[in-house]
Amino acid sequence: MIIQDEKIERTLEKASSYDDSQVAAILTKAKELKGISLDEAAVLLNLTDSNLLNQLFETAKYIKEAIYGNRIVLFAPLYISNLCTNECIYCAFRRSNTTLKRHASSQDEIRQEIEALLKQGHKRVLMVAGEAYPGGGLQYVYDSIKTIYDTRWNGHNIRRVNVNIAPLTLPEFEELKKCNIGTYQLFQETYHQKTYEKLHIAGAKKDFQFRLNAMDRALQAGMNDVGIGPLLGLYNHKFDILATLEHSWYLDKTYGVGPHTISIPRIEPAEGSDFSQHPNDVLTDDDFKKCVAVLRLAVPYTGIILSTRETPQMRNECLELGVSQISADSRVNPGGYSYDKENGSQFTLSDSRTLAEVIDAIVDAKHMPSFCTGCYRLGRVGKDFMDMAKPGLIKTHCLPNAMFTFAEYLEDFAPLPLKEKGYALINQTAKEAFPADSPIHKLIEENLTKIKTGKRDLYF
Ligand code: SAM
Ligand code: SF4
Repeated sequence: MIIQDEKIERTLEKASSYDDSQVAAILTKAKELKGISLDEAAVLLNLTDSNLLNQLFETAKYIKEAIYGNRIVLFAPLYISNLCTNECIYCAFRRSNTTLKRHASSQDEIRQEIEALLKQGHKRVLMVAGEAYPGGGLQYVYDSIKTIYDTRWNGHNIRRVNVNIAPLTLPEFEELKKCNIGTYQLFQETYHQKTYEKLHIAGAKKDFQFRLNAMDRALQAGMNDVGIGPLLGLYNHKFDILATLEHSWYLDKTYGVGPHTISIPRIEPAEGSDFSQHPNDVLTDDDFKKCVAVLRLAVPYTGIILSTRETPQMRNECLELGVSQISADSRVNPGGYSYDKENGSQFTLSDSRTLAEVIDAIVDAKHMPSFCTGCYRLGRVGKDFMDMAKPGLIKTHCLPNAMFTFAEYLEDFAPLPLKEKGYALINQTAKEAFPADSPIHKLIEENLTKIKTGKRDLYF
């Protein structure tokens, strides 16, 4: 069994009493970068003392920097369709929401959307859809992925498509694998089955087990990278974070590789959903930050993704706690970047900054924006990625690759003040991270010169 409710509940109860020395020992252990146990994660989720919380947050930052350096990967979600036959009571796309304007983008419209994203400088897209596809089968999904990869604007193209769509059968995953996607992402929403069944009242998504086993089928079908996550607010967030860890460890034990990423969406108000205005669990910002930090300590090599469901301030604060990927300038309706900026959104967004504004804030916080897709294109995926990440080597690849893709962005898209600020950060980071006579430092200098003279898409 992947999730045992009683075990998680017992663990949380046992962790309600702890002393400072126990917390200090857990944080010291976490700094060895080998993760922490379920019992230890439960203790950290129960912390309330501000001094101990600060120590937790500092440890999360230490781990993130030790493994990934200061790079932050940027992506944009692309909602291709809001048609849906399910009845998830928190989502505006659910089928009984008859006032929502429904639309599935045509392939021409998808091209328009991608052109709009390319014009901003995006290179990575997360394709998203409700569970009902024009034409019935999954051909629409496969066609849309191809359209995204094939679209060109001024020599630019999307280099990695990740996908967040309803769970597939094994043969369907085998077909999806042929589309050359990056990560297959699916959120369990809540791992608490009884609550799950109350919140998903009709349609295929009612089947808790079919969703829970989706990643097994995906990995058996040969998908390289999978991404999991809870939708925080549907049930007790501490339970769902511990269950996410159990799911992650189960995948690691069974398939030799855990999830590539964990997302931590928090429920947002959605049109026509009372539940989304009054969710079962209302997390404070400190609760949310604790979730990020505990994940960072428990599964140090797994990417953590934060979306524009969070405010700019929360997103800035979470960068320090171990988040490694964020979306920017997102729209959550079909057409949102180009042909319909108004209708059919899935929920309300909390960060409306442009990509350039998000990047500006990242640079101010001394993080390195990255559009890198190098690992995926060099086949450094799944277990190979994790084997490389574990001894800390990813930092020596991710950071230079981040600099190259960021320099491309600065050359092709950035307003002048950002360009100057961006290059200052690149130069300072190269100096601090790699000795001047090291081969990596030399490679960085050479590649930056090539990028300034028009060369593109450099990675190693
Ligand atoms: N329809 C597919 C499914 O449900 O798995 C995939 C796409 S769905 C549009 C993507 C995710 O949006 C869901 O898994 C859910 O976690 C999230 N979501 C739905 N309603 C939300 C809300 N009100 N606030 C924040 N996230 C929400
Ligand atoms: Fe449909 Fe997904 Fe929304 Fe549920 S969460 S109503 S399945 S789009």
